[in-house]
Amino acid sequence: MCAARRVPLRRRRRLGAARGGEGRDGRAGEMETAPAPPAGAPRAPRPGPSACRAAKGEASAAPRSSPRRRRRLCVEYEAPRGGEAEAAPRWEPEGWRRQLAHIRAMRAARDAPVDRMGAAACVDGAAPPEVRRYQVLLALMLSSQTRDQVTWAAVRRLREDGLTVDRILQAEEGALGRLIYPVGFWKNKARYIKQTTAILKRDYAGDIPKTVAELVKLPGVGPKMAHLVMNIAWQTVSGIGVDTHVHRISNRLKWVKEETKHPEETRQALEKWLPRELWSELNWLLVGFGQQICLPVNPRCSECLNQAICPASRKH
Ligand code: SF4
Repeated sequence: MCAARRVPLRRRRRLGAARGGEGRDGRAGEMETAPAPPAGAPRAPRPGPSACRAAKGEASAAPRSSPRRRRRLCVEYEAPRGGEAEAAPRWEPEGWRRQLAHIRAMRAARDAPVDRMGAAACVDGAAPPEVRRYQVLLALMLSSQTRDQVTWAAVRRLREDGLTVDRILQAEEGALGRLIYPVGFWKNKARYIKQTTAILKRDYAGDIPKTVAELVKLPGVGPKMAHLVMNIAWQTVSGIGVDTHVHRISNRLKWVKEETKHPEETRQALEKWLPRELWSELNWLLVGFGQQICLPVNPRCSECLNQAICPASRKH
């Protein structure tokens, strides 16, 4: 019998581990092969948190013997959260292109009040560009909570006196109020118009601001109005102008992923999926459609080309 055979099994295992050989689980040797520092040598600094993290990452990437552990790591590395988000298809409402084509067909005659009396139609085409832009802004300020017919008549009265920055600055607030009456909130609007016009004269040389950020700082101008001003006065698409018509119809057609309560919420929801090249058209299209067919109360579903594909058609 050779000497090796006479060494007891437990002792042979201990010797193997001490020499860097494999233990029973095949890992013990790896753990014990790090050379001990020579006596008197300075102690190595303790690893910092980043080193620990790096070490953890290295260890995670290395294959493990436990199949359960390996599966969990695969999920982490093969499908990172960011990658999943990028790959997710963008939501868009079902059948919206057909619904839009139908609305375009119903609006082809361009004979709704907004076509004849909307802000774009209120402007004096012969006036200089900065005056036309000012008139667009004023017409939109007057149009809030007011029917197009009433806004149109008020702008016509203002234009008879000369609808320019200087003329409005000369006018008394009370006289201005009487001219624009009966537009909604006419007293507040007369005050806002005077304040806004003074700012335009002082800060913009009588012209109007070129950005939404500056426009919404003017008294009486909100985001919806600012986007419409950008679109009509500057021919720049900055966002969708969402008024009550656009808000209501977008919810009826389910063009918003979840029902929205306010026009501003609807604007944000629409801008997430509607191609940008359609933004400027949408306000004009839906306002006229809302004035003629998809009325706020008792919409004319039986006359609507979308009746068969509208989620709200049976409710009215
Ligand atoms: S079917 Fe009725 S509710 Fe639907 S878009 Fe047409 S008019 Fe509006």
